[in-house]
Amino acid sequence: SSPNNAWVTLATNDSYSLGALVLAHSLKTVGTVYKLAILITPGVTAPMKQQIEAVFDEVKVVDVLDSKDQTHLALMCRPELGVTFTKLHCWTFTNYDKCVFLDADTLVLQNCDELFQREELSAAPDPGWPDCFNSGVFVYKPSQDTFGQLLEFARTRGSFDGGDQGLLNMFFKEWSNTDISKHLSFTYNVVWSSTYSYLPALKQFGQNMKIVHFISSSKPWLQSFNTETRLVTSKHGGSGLQELLQLWWDLFCRHVHPGLS
Ligand code: UDP
Ligand code: MN
Repeated sequence: SSPNNAWVTLATNDSYSLGALVLAHSLKTVGTVYKLAILITPGVTAPMKQQIEAVFDEVKVVDVLDSKDQTHLALMCRPELGVTFTKLHCWTFTNYDKCVFLDADTLVLQNCDELFQREELSAAPDPGWPDCFNSGVFVYKPSQDTFGQLLEFARTRGSFDGGDQGLLNMFFKEWSNTDISKHLSFTYNVVWSSTYSYLPALKQFGQNMKIVHFISSSKPWLQSFNTETRLVTSKHGGSGLQELLQLWWDLFCRHVHPGLS
């Protein structure tokens, strides 16, 4: 039997929930043997929560502002870290042996169950500053102890970018220079940006892509979609992005949209 592992994502509102639902269906489509878990907050509406519960094996509601625990206390000092703190809750899924966190704006193109053989903290380099890892995809070991340390770290040290990526790169700072086995291939987190590209590499290695990450304004649910032709038209276009956005919309139309109407 398979180990007790899970993919984990996060949605604090209905638009990111659409991303999480398509992500979940992409994982099922590639035939993962592992569980699907999600963190949501009360910002997700009841009908959307129902859709999420139908697809994910475990749904954990985190209410940062109402809780009287250490999370709340830490957040009081660092209000700018709201969503970041919510993401840190992924360490509390201690009912699993190992997890892979995926941003809700990622899409899995090929089975990557082998990621669970990696150790905490494994991640792929961020193209904006490759000595930092991108925190949209990472392998970790759930632990209340680590969660507590992360909160304390966030409270006392903050984050150099005001978000989870700066914080996690400070906490797991040995990632950059210690153990190359914790450096995931870029194919596990192909950060899609319109501001740079290495087109010959894309041509050479594009078919190896396993997970695509639609950062910033390339969010699939923000693109215009023609309901007649069922085609997406991206403002950014070019270099294969259109095809990947279309894959996202195909999954959305097939698996998510029917449940919403
Ligand atoms: N997120 C969320 N609600 C928000 C912003 C972010 O649920 O209002 C979650 C979601 O899982 C998202 C992740 O936090 O994928 C990181 O944010 P985002 O992907 O927008 O950052 P980027 O990858 O563009 O830097
Ligand atoms: Mn993201």
